[in-house]
Parts: sequence; structure tokens; C-alpha cells
Amino acid sequence: QGSRQFHPEDTVIRTAHSVIGGDHFTLMAGPCSVESLEHVTKMAAVAKASGATILRGGAFKPRTSPYSFQGLGEDGLKYLRQAADKYGMDVLTEVMDDEHVKMVAKYTDIFQIGARNMQNFSLLKAVGKTNIPVMLKRGMSATIDDVLNATEYIAAGGNHNIMIAERGIRTFDNKYTRNTMDVSIVPVMQKLTHYPVIIDPSHAAGHTEFVTPLALAGTAAGASGLVVEIHDDPKHAFSDGPQALKPNEYADMAEKALAIRELL
Ligand code: PEP
Ligand code: MN
Repeated sequence: QGSRQFHPEDTVIRTAHSVIGGDHFTLMAGPCSVESLEHVTKMAAVAKASGATILRGGAFKPRTSPYSFQGLGEDGLKYLRQAADKYGMDVLTEVMDDEHVKMVAKYTDIFQIGARNMQNFSLLKAVGKTNIPVMLKRGMSATIDDVLNATEYIAAGGNHNIMIAERGIRTFDNKYTRNTMDVSIVPVMQKLTHYPVIIDPSHAAGHTEFVTPLALAGTAAGASGLVVEIHDDPKHAFSDGPQALKPNEYADMAEKALAIRELL
């Protein structure tokens, strides 16, 4: 269903405040975790000020350690929804469990399937039965064909509003970056499939200083958008502080990305 060969036109996904795919370039930003209503509202303002139309934030966090912060749960979804509505933005948030799909659907405009769940087939089938757009994040050891097969599990249920996010993969050298961003996924996916490809430079970089260069590289390669983690006080962030852009850094990145996009 995802094959470009049988469906030459780009998939264009429309949400209340955003258009993703085709000739559009979409900015998505927000904190890694929803921390409080006040904080996520502040981050929504920052994201919106630099042109983001989609507010990201995790309320259910797939943490590597079970002892790390696991998210605020449904309260977090309420805060995220409220913050997005205040600024006329869409919500993008992760659903980790097929049993949560119905509940998360009450609050979100786009489901995020996390890298660790890219091949959680019961979850893929569950979101595939909804009509809510899905951002499928590439698993950290997933090949291009693995990603495409995962999209098929979603599409099989009738939901064709799928976007693919590159967030970096594990390679032999992830000493200086958290993951290795595979920028080639952008042109390769554009050849193989009609689904939009979004770049997540934050989880690829793992360190603030590398986020902007990776974001710009993905933009130059023709990505349909960027999803970026931001925080006003990264040292005290509940999760992923080391890779968060501060508000001024995000504004600078967004301005440069939009300028590069104009050249394509
Ligand atoms: C996230 O978006 O905060 C996240 C956990 O991403 P990933 O699944 O790519 O690690
Ligand atoms: Mn994160």
C-alpha cells in the first residue's frame, strides 16, 4: 500500500492546523516529556513563535531504565491538549500500548509510535484501525524494508495517514552522537514510498550542539518536516535534557531550516 510504484502521488496529511507531505514543510517541537501544564504551555508558545504548528510531548515515556521518569500519563495528555489548544496547534504524542490507543486518541491529533515499538505489531494494527495520523519512528536497528513493512501493518487496517520519522540508528560508532542519523532515508523513501519523511535530529544527535546541523542536513535532503525537542531549562528536564534546544537555539534552527527549504 505504501509503494510509490502503485501510488505515485505523495501522501498529504491534513490535521486541524497542519499539512504534512507533498510540497509542505512542517515544524514540530516541544519537550521530550510533558512536565506540567505550566511548562508545556510555555514550550508551546516557544514552538509556535518559530513556526511550529505541532506540539510534541510525551506523557507515556519508553525509558531505557524502568527507574527513570515514566511520564505523567493521562494528566500529561490533558496538559498537552490544553497547551496546544491555547496556541492553535496540533498534538503529537506517543502511544506505547494498544490498550491505551482509545484513551490517547481522545487527546491527540497524531499518534507517535516510538522507535522501540516500531515492530510492536499489535500496536501498529491498533493505530491502523483508527483514522488518526501516525508518525512511525524508525527502530534503532531497523532497515528501510523493516520500516516499510511496519507501515504496511498500519495501512492494512485502513489508516493511510502515515509519516516516517528518522531518529538515528545504532552503528559501530555512537560514542559522540546518541545515534547515527541516516540522512539517506529521505531520498530513498521518496523513491520507494509516498509517505512523508520527518527528521528527528534530537534523538539522533543526543547533544544540543549537534541538533541544528543534523536538522539542516535533513531539511536540505528534502525531509517533509522536523520534530525537535526544546526546553527552557535543559539541566532540569525530566528527560532528554542534554539534547534539548533552548528557545533561542530553536528559533535560530527554525529560521535556518526554513531558509534552506526555500532553496529546494
Ligand atoms: C521521544 O520522541 O521522546 C522518543 C522516546 O523517541 P524515540 O522513540 O525515537 O526514542
Ligand atoms: Mn525524547
